[in-house]
Amino acid sequence: TKFEALGLSKPLLDAVNDMGFESPSEVQEKAIPILLESETDLVALAQTGTGKTAAFGFPLIQKLDSNSRTTQGLILSPTRELCLQITNEIQAYSKFVKGLNTVAIYGGASITDQARQIKRGAQIVVATPGRMKDMISRGLVDITKIDYCILDEADEMLNMGFFEDIKDILSNTPKEKSTWLFSATMPREVATIAKKFMHSPIEITV
Ligand code: AMP
Repeated sequence: TKFEALGLSKPLLDAVNDMGFESPSEVQEKAIPILLESETDLVALAQTGTGKTAAFGFPLIQKLDSNSRTTQGLILSPTRELCLQITNEIQAYSKFVKGLNTVAIYGGASITDQARQIKRGAQIVVATPGRMKDMISRGLVDITKIDYCILDEADEMLNMGFFEDIKDILSNTPKEKSTWLFSATMPREVATIAKKFMHSPIEITV
């Protein structure tokens, strides 16, 4: 299939079949090969509904080490709804990858339960900025060893006033990592985040 041509591994191609996806969307076609083949930073201008979750989700799942329980990927998203939606999608995409755990961290739900899930080992953490910052400051989650950081709907997160939280969270991540930023628009604050925290990102627009 056209998904095979993108370089996806067998467990991910099985998930693609399972989901009934017939061909990659434009953002998937553009982003997946770049993210699989290099350790580059990426800025992608893409609206919701374009298949962007799989565009970053597939490469993230394929590149991390599911044999290690360390948290390796962090996805920040603006709302609880989106956080849960991304988590569900990532869990579906990683259905055939043994030992891979994805945990959702968001406000308005029990922090104790979320901390317990993290403690069991989560290679991927999907979080809203406020709760994430809270859990970092309480020592309930460790993102000091992540290899991949994804900022989803970056313009929305900044609109909602998460600029300081995002800066705080990113300052707890290692310098040596890849950052993938997805945004529908590119206002000045998003450009500032990209400039401050990313290194010569490849840019794609759909
Ligand atoms: P997103 O833009 O990531 O929120 O995805 C929007 C919806 O499209 C989700 O329900 C996905 O499961 C679905 N989707 C993602 N990629 C594809 C694809 N290549 N073919 C068909 N549906 C897809």
